[in-house]
Amino acid sequence: MQPLIDQHGRVATDLRVSLTDKCNLRCTYCMPAEGLDWMPTDQQLTDDEIVRLIGIAAEHLGVREVRFTGGEPLVRRGLVDIVRRVRAATEVEMSITTNALGLARTAGALAEAGLDRVNVSLDTVRRDTFHEVTRRDRFDDVVEGLAAAEAAGLGPVKVNAVLLRGVNDDQAPELLGWCIEHGYHLRFIEQMPLDAQHGWDRDAMVTADEILTSLSGAFELSPAVEPRGSAPAELFTVDGGPATVGIIASVTRPFCGDCDRVRLTADGQVRNCLFARSESDLRAALRAGASDEELAERWRVAMWGKAAGHGIDDPTFLQPDRPMSAIGG
Ligand code: SAM
Ligand code: SF4
Repeated sequence: MQPLIDQHGRVATDLRVSLTDKCNLRCTYCMPAEGLDWMPTDQQLTDDEIVRLIGIAAEHLGVREVRFTGGEPLVRRGLVDIVRRVRAATEVEMSITTNALGLARTAGALAEAGLDRVNVSLDTVRRDTFHEVTRRDRFDDVVEGLAAAEAAGLGPVKVNAVLLRGVNDDQAPELLGWCIEHGYHLRFIEQMPLDAQHGWDRDAMVTADEILTSLSGAFELSPAVEPRGSAPAELFTVDGGPATVGIIASVTRPFCGDCDRVRLTADGQVRNCLFARSESDLRAALRAGASDEELAERWRVAMWGKAAGHGIDDPTFLQPDRPMSAIGG
C-alpha cells in the first residue's frame, strides 16, 4: 500500500464519491431553478466501476473513510447495493451526505447494508424558509428522514446548514435549539463560490464570526477541548455540554493545510480539491482495461499536484468549471 500523498506532505484518507449530479431540490446557493444539463448516463461510472475504484482506494491507497454524495446520492438506484458491496469488500467507514428526501424509506436498508452514518443538509426549521431556499415544499420529508436515520442507528446524525444573507441568517439559534432538542449534531458551513450560477459574493456571504455572534446571543459557547485534527469543523460546547455546534469556516478560516480529502466525480474523474482546476480521468483508463495497480498509480499522480490552498481570496481566483452538485460536496 502506498498512500495518496501530495507535494505539500498531506495524506488523503477520506474519499468523497459522487454518485450522481442529479438532484430533487434546487437550493439557491447550489443550482438554478431550472436545474442543469445532467451528465449523460454512459459517462457515469456504473455500480461495478464505483465498487472497484473504492476497493482500490481502500486496498492500495490507504483510504479509510468513504462518503457518498452528489447531487443527491439517494436518487441513485443502486445506492443500497453499492453500500452492501463496499462493506463486504473493505473496512472503510461509510457515510452519506444527503438532503434526506426519501431517507425515511431507505434508512433501514442502508443501515442493514452497512452504512455507518448520515449527514443531512437542512438550513432552516421554518417551512416557508425551506421552500424559499430549496424551491421545493419538502420540509416534512427531511424531518421524517432525519428521524428514520436516527432510529436506524445511522448516528450520530449530523446536520449541515448554510446561512444566506436576508434569507435565514437570523435563524442560527433557532436551528441549533431544534437540533439539540432532537439530538442532531449541527454544523454551519460558510457559503462557497461553487454555485452553478456564479452568484456567490464575498461581501454578502455570512461569515463564521457572524454565526458565532448570532449563536452567542442565545447560547453560551466555549471552544471544545478535543483536538481538531483534519476535521474541518471548529467545535464549540453549547451551554456547558454535552451538546456541541460546529462551524466550517472554509472561506474566512481555511483549513487547507490539514485537508485529508480526495474526490471522485460521478463520471470517474479524480479531483484533488473542491476548487481544483484540473482532473484526472480514471474512467477512461478503467474502460481501456487498466489494472488495479495502474489505476492506483494514476490516482497517486493526480493527488501529488494538489495545491496548497483554495485561494478564494486571491485576486486571480477562478471558480472551478464544475458546480458543487457535479463535483460532490
Ligand atoms: N444533495 C446532498 C445534500 O444537499 O446534502 C449532497 C450534495 S450537496 C452539494 C453537499 C453539501 O454541499 C450540502 O450540505 C450543501 O448544503 C453544501 N453546499 C452546496 N452548495 C454550497 C455552497 N455554494 N457553499 C457551501 N456549501 C454548499
Ligand atoms: Fe441538491 Fe444538495 Fe445542491 Fe441542495 S445542496 S440542490 S440538495 S445537491
